[in-house]
Amino acid sequence: MRNPVIIALLLFVAISCGGRKAASVVNASAKSEQTQATVTENLPEFCADSAYNYIKRQTDFGPRVPNTKAHDDCGIWLAAKLASFGADKVHLQNFDAKTFDGNTLKCLNIIGSFNSDCPTRVILCSHWDSRPWADNDPDPSKHKTPVDAANDGASGVAVILEIARQMQQKAPQIGIDCIFLDAEDWGPGDDYKGEHLETWWGLGTQEWARNPHEKGYKARYAILLDMVGGKGATFYREKYSVMFGKQYVDKVWNAASQLGYSSLFRKQDGFYVTDDHYFINTIARIPAIDIVPYIPNCPSSSFGPTWHTTQDNIDNIDKNVLEAVGKTLISVIYNEKP
Ligand SMILES: [Zn+2]
Repeated sequence: MRNPVIIALLLFVAISCGGRKAASVVNASAKSEQTQATVTENLPEFCADSAYNYIKRQTDFGPRVPNTKAHDDCGIWLAAKLASFGADKVHLQNFDAKTFDGNTLKCLNIIGSFNSDCPTRVILCSHWDSRPWADNDPDPSKHKTPVDAANDGASGVAVILEIARQMQQKAPQIGIDCIFLDAEDWGPGDDYKGEHLETWWGLGTQEWARNPHEKGYKARYAILLDMVGGKGATFYREKYSVMFGKQYVDKVWNAASQLGYSSLFRKQDGFYVTDDHYFINTIARIPAIDIVPYIPNCPSSSFGPTWHTTQDNIDNIDKNVLEAVGKTLISVIYNEKP
């Protein structure tokens, strides 16, 4: 995803595009959400060690950069994993994507549907590709090196895989679609001299949002996980999420605070971030929120010190952060009523 310092400048454009409409939709159903009591007992036990191992399995393939063997091998592994955890259907969406620098990427979105007969659906999604260049690395000689992407990609996928494993033991009352989105992170770096379009990012999501895995597909809402395992992470309320799906931001942040994670999930606004959820909101018209770090005072990036660097590797993953995010999501989806 793109550096939020730039995104802040686009704020006015974003608001004029649809902020008002989104707000009225939110208000209409916010009240009914508040009346439901949250159950925090007898929930499946999210295992952070297991999620950590799923990150390791992904990084062991090497950087999952589109058009590489590591990418294609990992895609096969992810699809097989969803099937092994009891997904009713695993949809493989192959497509070609054009990049800002003139490449054509052979891409794959992977969708695992659980409880596929249930009309009430919630999406858990994350991008699974790795950024091809560590262009934010403090060492300029590494700016062309692909990123391991333990946090920026693999962490979100890993948390979703662990939730899928838990759903096999005990199903929630609703249907869940686990979506692994490709080619999120091939967007231009800050030094790119051409036009910076939001549509250079989230290529897999744009494809899925225009051509969902089922005709007429609908979901109640989507939760995007991006960089949910970094040391020192804090999650503020990302502003597009608040704009398009405030009631779901409240739902997730309240669940986190009930579980004792309010120091991680801060009930304060962060930035606007161009990330996959932006296209789920604007193209698929499904309310989508983003759990993405915002770390004020981090000098190299507000996403954290390893963002788009060669240090985004397994050594800089914190199991406690994975656990907080995983347990919060378990609470949210197991409290969701059809
Ligand atoms: Zn990224």
